[in-house]
Amino acid sequence: MKKVLITGAAGFLGSHLCDRFIAEGFYVIGMDNFITGDKKNISHLENNANFEFIKHDVTEFISIEGDLDYVLHFASPASPIDYLKIPIQTLKVGSLGTHNLLGLAKAKNARLLIASTSEVYGDPLVHPQTESYYGNVNTIGPRGVYDEAKRFQESITMAYHRFHGVETRIVRIFNTYGPRMRLNDGRVIPAFMGQALRGEDLTVFGDGMQTRSFCYVDDQVEGIFRLMFSDYANPVNIGNPNEITIKDFAEEIIKLTNTSQKIIYKELPVDDPLQRQPDITLAKKLLGWQPKVEREEGMLKTFNYFKSLSDEDLYKSEHKDFSKHIKK
Ligand code: NAD
Ligand code: UDP
Repeated sequence: MKKVLITGAAGFLGSHLCDRFIAEGFYVIGMDNFITGDKKNISHLENNANFEFIKHDVTEFISIEGDLDYVLHFASPASPIDYLKIPIQTLKVGSLGTHNLLGLAKAKNARLLIASTSEVYGDPLVHPQTESYYGNVNTIGPRGVYDEAKRFQESITMAYHRFHGVETRIVRIFNTYGPRMRLNDGRVIPAFMGQALRGEDLTVFGDGMQTRSFCYVDDQVEGIFRLMFSDYANPVNIGNPNEITIKDFAEEIIKLTNTSQKIIYKELPVDDPLQRQPDITLAKKLLGWQPKVEREEGMLKTFNYFKSLSDEDLYKSEHKDFSKHIKK
């Protein structure tokens, strides 16, 4: 049985990847420190003989007994509100955490796939974004802690690949959504759906003319899975090119949830990218991959998931408390 380590296993994408690798017949070691994740996302795997969990902060030295064949590094805060609240942890998990995982992959002769992001393109001046675009990132702005950690992550990964011959893969993930996102993580889909469920107005930031392109989690996991088993070491965009303005998206959610809330406008966060759409030509050619789930279908599945949560989860609208993770 091939063994895979998945960091960020208690998070949204990490938990879906654990499920996929187990379903494909792998032995999965999940690792997480729960800083933005939730035990509940992997509680269904607790008694699975092909799953084990290690609570660990990947910015500290990582020790795994025995062989290891694959590593997926998905640990990192991913919501702008999260990484603005825990900026140092975000920088450390992208840099020190990635360094530790590269060292582990080198020692075990394992293949490592890292979760990069469309944020490496910053507020992009090239549209749609192709992998050859170098990006437009404000290094010292508040989002820089995430963007630059991810850019460094790509650089150190390529250096280990070139200098040490470590087998590496880099996925540039564009906005992905689905069940197991944290309802209070501040990202636009949980934010709007939580507001719809609580009967609150939907908060559109800025004039709502900024765009995003949303990919359903099953499509994202399929793309990542294919990339892991490809022989391509340079970055690959995985996302859904169906682009929409945030204002139109809020209206779509009001219709979908059959609610009568209004849209209210709030200040646009600093350096919020004005446009984002993946060019997925490379993924199509290389992996024979393209998204299959239409936004309406994916949103409905996601809304049904949020609806199934307890009132306690729904009204826990205050953002996650990070205080116990912050060293003074
Ligand atoms: P998430 O917050 O749900 O999951 C991240 C997980 O990593 C959490 O469970 C958290 O507790 C864990 N973690 C964070 N720091 C850690 C540390 N130092 N040690 C151990 N565990 C740690 O976020 P997500 O949406 O699942 O994102 C997963 C990965 O995918 C991240 O690397 C993110 O940058 C990347 N990504 C996600 C998206 C998206 O749209 N979901 C887009 C681009 C990139
Ligand atoms: N956004 C919004 N209202 C919210 C949350 C987010 O209008 O309550 C906007 C945000 O400003 C951004 C887009 O929705 O333009 C996507 O935000 P998200 O936090 O999901 O992720 P990003 O793509 O910015 O990383």
